[in-house]
Amino acid sequence: MGHELCHRFGFSEAAREQRLKLLDLSVSDNQWSELLLQQVIEPNAEYIVAAFYDHMVQSEEFTSIVNRDTTLERLRKTQTLYLRSLGQEFQSADYFEERLRVGIAHARVSVPLSLYECACAILKQKIIDAIPAQIHKDPAQLLGLASFISRITALDMSLAIETYHLSKVQTLEKALQSLAQLDAELRHKVATDALTGVASHGQSLSALRKAIQIAHRNHTPLCIAMADLDYFKRVNDEHGHQVGDDVLCDVAGRMQAAVRHFDTVGRYGGEEFLIIMDNADLATSKEIAERVRQRVAATPVKTRSAGVTMTLSLGLAMLKPGDDVDSLIKRADEALYAAKNQGRNRVIYSSNSFPSAGTGWIQRREP
Ligand code: GH3
Ligand code: MG
Ligand code: MG
Repeated sequence: MGHELCHRFGFSEAAREQRLKLLDLSVSDNQWSELLLQQVIEPNAEYIVAAFYDHMVQSEEFTSIVNRDTTLERLRKTQTLYLRSLGQEFQSADYFEERLRVGIAHARVSVPLSLYECACAILKQKIIDAIPAQIHKDPAQLLGLASFISRITALDMSLAIETYHLSKVQTLEKALQSLAQLDAELRHKVATDALTGVASHGQSLSALRKAIQIAHRNHTPLCIAMADLDYFKRVNDEHGHQVGDDVLCDVAGRMQAAVRHFDTVGRYGGEEFLIIMDNADLATSKEIAERVRQRVAATPVKTRSAGVTMTLSLGLAMLKPGDDVDSLIKRADEALYAAKNQGRNRVIYSSNSFPSAGTGWIQRREP
């Protein structure tokens, strides 16, 4: 017989010995175990089991779990077998294994532990009630036997309760694990734009909020770019919305590939994207925005039907002291508006973002 439960619940030989010692059970108890079996259980097993269930069926808690005759009949048989093995070679791994199994069986059908404990007490009483008269005549024998019954039923109960709790805990752990997985999946879904796979609108704003806090606290530069596809409506009109969707996906991929790995690209809305460039000064942000623009314009975007040439306009803004999400985005929007007005397919930075004039290759919006 394998001892899978003994292994799983740590009942090595040493652990078994420890449990037996705790209950003062030793080889000297073998005489009581034999006496129990021969004089009490064997002649009275059916009677004890019948008396036990006659008592238990008076409990509504019990009958609500066991409400079919067939189940009761099965329980009677199992209980009789259990009784016939009570205390038999209680030191062995086989004995422990069977008792550990009892707890798992009870946990599986969700028998309340309080009901199980009360049932154990009643069964113990029915066993004591079945002690024959001749043993009652010998007080030393009666005491020794009653003490053994007490300790052996305590052993059985302690083992069953151990696995009962652990298997309940394992079930809860599994439930928690799948909840945590579901939570992670939901968080990912909320944080990701379903069409393009870049950060969602909400995720972009919370990333920006965080980036602004860090930049203000550490006095590090932060730039953002608001990017908008040029004449995107025409793509939908000429090729249909599905092709339009393909364009959005491809462009988002190109943007993501053109920024640094720690920059955030998010879909701000429709065909507008927000790029958050942590720790980027003017020169760096210009470089990144221009790289994004060129990536999109360089080659026609592949779609399910035609290749579509697309361009992107970008408005840049740099964080100033006192800025929050709204004020920073507002300046990037103004710069984007200027890029559109000045002919599209270009990067413009907000004139009031930077302390000094631009370097020339980026056009500066005229006031
Ligand atoms: P501009 O250069 O001034 O930005 O012109 P535009 O055509 O790109 O801008 P406009 O605001 O006129 O049109 C944007 C279009 O983007 C209109 C809208 O139907 C389309 N759009 C927004 N979201 C989606 C989407 O998820 N899929 C598709 N296929 N089209 C979208
Ligand atoms: Mg547009
Ligand atoms: Mg737009």
